[in-house]
Amino acid sequence: MLGAAASLLNIKVLVLDSGDSAPAKQVIAPTPPLSHVDGKFTDEESVRQLASQVDVLTVEIEHVNAQVLEDIMKDSSRPIQVHPHPSTIKIIQNKLTQKRHLTKYGVPVVDCQEVIASSADPSTSMQGAIKTLGLPLMLKSQTLAYDGRGNYVVETEDDVGKAQTALGDRPLYAERWAPFVKEIAVMIVRSASGTVVSYPAVETVHKENICHIVFAPLRGTDQELDGKARRVAEKAIQTFEGAGVFGVEMFLMPDGEILVNEIAPRPHNSGHYTIEACYSSQYENHLRAILDLPLGSTELRVPAAVMLNLIGASSDMSEITRVCQKALTVPGAAIHLYGKSESRKGRKMGHITIVGNSEAEVRSRLRPLLEALPDNDP
Ligand code: ADP
Ligand code: MG
Repeated sequence: MLGAAASLLNIKVLVLDSGDSAPAKQVIAPTPPLSHVDGKFTDEESVRQLASQVDVLTVEIEHVNAQVLEDIMKDSSRPIQVHPHPSTIKIIQNKLTQKRHLTKYGVPVVDCQEVIASSADPSTSMQGAIKTLGLPLMLKSQTLAYDGRGNYVVETEDDVGKAQTALGDRPLYAERWAPFVKEIAVMIVRSASGTVVSYPAVETVHKENICHIVFAPLRGTDQELDGKARRVAEKAIQTFEGAGVFGVEMFLMPDGEILVNEIAPRPHNSGHYTIEACYSSQYENHLRAILDLPLGSTELRVPAAVMLNLIGASSDMSEITRVCQKALTVPGAAIHLYGKSESRKGRKMGHITIVGNSEAEVRSRLRPLLEALPDNDP
């Protein structure tokens, strides 16, 4: 999607990912002698191979080798820009470091504390966390977490062993359970000079820890909520360095307080709706920001939009195409399939955005798609 936005601006893009048919490589043709890189974004050699061919480097995932990015940026023999700043990626890629950073700058987050399996010290032991944070609590991996893979709900003391086995030997931390009323997300664009602008706040609905549906703008009667959520998100992103778009996931608590759940230093699933629903998409604005071009408008250009993630239920790809076939008959529906070679349970295979003249209209247009989902769960 970043590549598609870049091609409309004649911006040449090279991609580092594994395999020749990685999704982004399917839509971007490199101009010889430049070439895409076949490798892992954690592999130093591969990152350097990409860097040697470009002027600006950016990421679409935070689980990259941030140290190499920092070294490349400091290398004075050939100045290249890296956005967002590697220090930002380093802070964000560890969720506990990220939470401590936000707390330091006065951004409200859920209470949490580090958990070391072997520790007997109450400030780092599981027992200490249960005592301080109460039950249930969310045990989370500090690193390499996405789509709920890295979270375990500890309801009773009996779950502790199961949780630690499930999360493996990754560094862990515990979070107080957040009995949120709804989940909200805001996409922020941070310009090269550090100015932040926000997209409208949206409601994200998760299923089994994975983002399932996004409603834009926020539903409900609270006229103040959009502004409140945007201000919290803008404040959070002001604390980081470097340009680009950031996704800010938040919890709306029963007393109206907004807590930041986590931040993504890149285009984000909760901002996919901006392609069809806003004047400039999150992808176009990411490019404008990292290339130090004037930012595009973040305003909605339609009254309402809804995005449905197409998440694999099994290896059966026809379950996904059945929903897409239904979408072809729905006015205002735009299908995005990612070109992934196989479907797997829990894998994001694509998404569908529906725009319309009102929330009621997009909800009624969404209904037949929900009915076509494999588990038919409205
Ligand atoms: P991921 O990196 O996988 O997106 P998150 O930390 O955002 O992980 O958690 C995924 C989802 O799990 C959240 O969107 C929310 O629905 C739920 N969740 C996360 N943390 C908590 C918490 N402390 N209390 C209650 N629910 C939570
Ligand atoms: Mg999340």
